[in-house]
Formats: sequence, structure tokens, C-alpha cells
Amino acid sequence: MAFTLPTDIKNRPVAVIGAGTLGRRIALMFATRGGLVRIFDKSHEAGEAARAYVEEHVAEVAAGIDGGEPGRVAVTDDMAEALLDAWLVVEAVPERLDLKKDIFGELDRAASPDTILASNSSSYATSEFIDQVRHPERVLNIHFYMPPRQNAVDLMSDGHTDSGVFDLLTRELPFYGVYPFVAHKESTGFIFNRVWAAIKREALAVVAEGVSTPEDVDEMWRINTGLAAGPFRMMDQVGLDVVLDIENHYAQERPWLPEGPRELLKTYVDAGHLGVKSGQGFYPYDDRA
Ligand code: NAD
Repeated sequence: MAFTLPTDIKNRPVAVIGAGTLGRRIALMFATRGGLVRIFDKSHEAGEAARAYVEEHVAEVAAGIDGGEPGRVAVTDDMAEALLDAWLVVEAVPERLDLKKDIFGELDRAASPDTILASNSSSYATSEFIDQVRHPERVLNIHFYMPPRQNAVDLMSDGHTDSGVFDLLTRELPFYGVYPFVAHKESTGFIFNRVWAAIKREALAVVAEGVSTPEDVDEMWRINTGLAAGPFRMMDQVGLDVVLDIENHYAQERPWLPEGPRELLKTYVDAGHLGVKSGQGFYPYDDRA
């Protein structure tokens, strides 16, 4: 059946596929308008942890959104049940292309004909995983940062996305406290991630070249921007292995990027210093929570 834009959005659920770090945060944002969010994860523990996370934070986050109202969250290990009558599905499973391809094939087969299918992938354009999808006009990237604190999102076409999908999401997402920005063409890293990548890369370069130290760069950042966490502190939070993977991905596409930042990151990763999660990165961490 041909794709038509979903209607009666306020009374239909949103489904989130994958309940990890980002999935539960995405579910939280869609639970702020009084409706139902269904979470599907193949891990029962992850699903239940996501439910607890949403229930703990939804009242506070909804209170900060104009017209917000705490909604309900349901967890299931049955994808078809999660998708039932959903107007939007956001996929947030691990960053593996083969997995995303299979999931999008499955979503396209099982979702209602008017369901919008979005991926939260950090580094893959949805054009890369639609080969099993019959209706690519309903597929796009909706890339979240770190809700509920960082609520700008990138929207990006898979090359076939119906223009009405962008209009609808641009209109609807702010009701959930989420602020969309459309990438006008395909772009690895979308919009803001590329800007942030350039900041990280240059911060790493000044240290790799022996010009400064992580502590001094972060302290100058704090004084000049008024923001507490500088680039090195932020990279420690994300994980230096993840930061290196991201930079390697950019470098595959843009071979002219300098190697110094990647070499510096690699010395930390090879030493097992991955940031907060390993107890040591650019800074030491006693509390790994
Ligand atoms: P995560 O590892 O924390 O969570 C992934 C979840 O998916 C897990 O709960 C896992 O059980 C579940 N899962 C695995 N296979 C599944 C399947 N076949 N069906 C259903 N559930 C399945 O990962 P994350 O950090 O939340 O990242 C998810 C996606 O979001 C990735 O594409 C990532 O690139 C993107 N992303 C992550 C961040 C971040 O800061 N972590 C930011 C933006 C985007």
C-alpha cells in the first residue's frame, strides 16, 4: 500500500526500537505529551531499565515543556506489538550496518502503511540501509544528541523521503521538546556533529603538537564560553574509543584530515584509558557511575 502521511498523531503511540543509552532518552521525550510510548528491546533487562528511567524523569521533563503532560510507557519484547498503530518509530539499536538493514526491512514489513520510520544512527545515512525497504519515502534519519539535556535533532533524507515527512516532523517534534533542523543534503555527521567534530579535532591537535595540555584547553574553554565541560572532559564522557571510531569514519571519507588527533586518541585507547567508563582518560575518575 502506498505511503500517506500519518494523521491523528496526538492519539497514536510512538515506538522506540532499542532501549539503551539513547533509546530510553528518546522514549522519555515522546512520553511528554500525555500519550503512549512503546519500547521494544530484545533484552528484557534493558527494556525494564528504560521503563524505570522514563517513569523517573517524565514528570520533571514534561513540566519544562510548554503544554507538556506526563505520558505512559509500555515495554515489550514483541516488535509487532510495539509497532501497533504507531505514527512514528525511532530505531536506536547498536551502530551496525547489517543490523540496521535487517531492522529497517522488518519495520517496513510490519509497521502500519502510514508509520514514519526513523533511525537515530550517529554515523550512517539511512540511504545505506534501505535495500530491504519497499517504501523508502517514509524513512529518514532523526539524529538525537543527548536528550533531555541536548534537544536539537538533525533530520536527513534517505534520498527518497517524502517532503511532507519533513514538514510534519518540523511542526510536531517541538511539542515534545525536540527541535529539528533539516540537513539540506546527505552529510556524514549531519549538522551539529560535524561542527563538534572540528572542535574536538583541533583541541586534540593543539595537544598532539605539544602546544598545550587538556587541562589548559578545557580551562580556556570554560573561561571563554562559560560552559563547564571543555572538549577533553566531554570526550572522556563519550568514551575515547567511540571518539576514535567517529574520527576514523570521518577520515575514511575525508582523507585530508590530520592524523595527529587520531594518533593521540590511539595512545589513550591502546593503554586502556577510555575515559569515565574505564576510570581514566584525559582525566582520572574515581567514581565510574
Ligand atoms: P546501546 O548499546 O546503549 O543500546 C542499544 C540497545 O539496543 C540495547 O539495549 C540492546 O539490547 C538493543 N538491541 C540490540 N539489538 C537489538 C535488536 N535486534 N532488536 C531490538 N533491540 C536490540 O546503544 P546507544 O548508545 O543507545 O546507541 C543506539 C544508536 O543511537 C546507535 O545507532 C548510535 O550510533 C546512536 N546514537 C548514540 C548516541 C550516544 O551518545 N550513545 C548519540 C546519538 C546517537
